[in-house]
Amino acid sequence: MVRHLLSGTLLAVLAALAFVLVSSVGATAPLSNASPQAHPAPTTPAPEVAELSLPWECSAAYRVTQTHDVGSHKGLGRWAFDFDLPEGTPVSAPAAGEVRMVRDDSTRHGCGPEFGWDANYVVIDLLNGYDALLLHLEADSVTVKPGDKVEAGQVVGRVGNSGWVCGTHLHFQIQRSCSSWWCQSVPAEFADYPAPSTGQELTRGVCEAPGTVVMAD
Ligand SMILES: [Zn+2]
Repeated sequence: MVRHLLSGTLLAVLAALAFVLVSSVGATAPLSNASPQAHPAPTTPAPEVAELSLPWECSAAYRVTQTHDVGSHKGLGRWAFDFDLPEGTPVSAPAAGEVRMVRDDSTRHGCGPEFGWDANYVVIDLLNGYDALLLHLEADSVTVKPGDKVEAGQVVGRVGNSGWVCGTHLHFQIQRSCSSWWCQSVPAEFADYPAPSTGQELTRGVCEAPGTVVMAD
């Protein structure tokens, strides 16, 4: 009996040791295999550039209120722009593409990351491996649905307060297509403004011709 108990205990200890070993290997392997590109240093320029129309009505002008690597624009949102569009302002597709995801049923919002998943949005697949994300839209304002083809400049919804907002604004980013609406952003350039800075007022001047999209991988 004692011998049985001992061997049982020994087996349990061995099993626990094996579990710990397997678990630790499983936990550390992805880290050791991670490529340096997965977490680039802030000073490392990414190779992607998109030349886009500003995502609002022709001739209208709005200010940049937040750019890159500051405030809430870290990690996946690192290359985003915030613009000071007032509530109810129409937003438009920055380039031609196909609508991939939409949400406009949220009325929850607040000034903190705990509201991050409550945002209304339109995600437009630019059909080149990248999406455009238009974020913080008004509830019941989205006029397109997944699968719809859109042209540059086409109105797709209106700005509102949804999700993580500390004041009404449009959050815009170009991101690598992934299975979520929230993916890794990449650097983007607008047709008239290669490097908009915080506080700068931007006028959408590209009105007749659709915005062109150039990805330089
Ligand atoms: Zn933002």
